Amino acid sequence: GQNRSLPLGRSLSALVLLQTPEPCCKSPAWSSATAALVKSPQSFLLPYVIIHHTAGNRCTSQASCSRQVRGIQNYHMDTQRWPDIGYNFLIGEDGRVYEGRGWSTVGAHAYNWSAKSLGFSFLGNFSSRAPNAAALNAAKSLIQCAVSKGFLRRSYTLTGHRNVFPTSCPGNALYRVISKWPRFKGKP
Ligand SMILES: [Zn+2]
Repeated sequence: GQNRSLPLGRSLSALVLLQTPEPCCKSPAWSSATAALVKSPQSFLLPYVIIHHTAGNRCTSQASCSRQVRGIQNYHMDTQRWPDIGYNFLIGEDGRVYEGRGWSTVGAHAYNWSAKSLGFSFLGNFSSRAPNAAALNAAKSLIQCAVSKGFLRRSYTLTGHRNVFPTSCPGNALYRVISKWPRFKGKP
């Protein structure tokens, strides 16, 4: 829960950044400060979006998705020893987008590719089933939001984690979906 005592420097909660249908206009529901994070400024107009799945449990409510995000953050910080959760944003089947490193900080999500991309990860395992419409729509809105905010080039390339690293991520079923989305390239 949000009230348990946390090690110094850990953000209080994953930020619930936005909800469809007005992703770019929504104010954050949480103010998240991760003091431990050494900020590496992300340059604007990035050329790539890389899609992941967390390969974890499904979540369909704000409470359960927040718990998932918290668990992933703990794993990335305590086990992986990263300064914060690796993804830039996470997407739940509650239709919400949860902020990880956000727009302006380089992620740790795709070896050799993090500095030139935004990493968006769907919460759940999508090897044998695709995310629901709420999550897919939230992801599409997030991509549009990135373009309209100037964090992503209009001529961006969308790809899956498996296209830049030997991994099954983002799962076969999700991969099939994103491979039909605009600007997708299997060999980025
Ligand atoms: Zn991945």
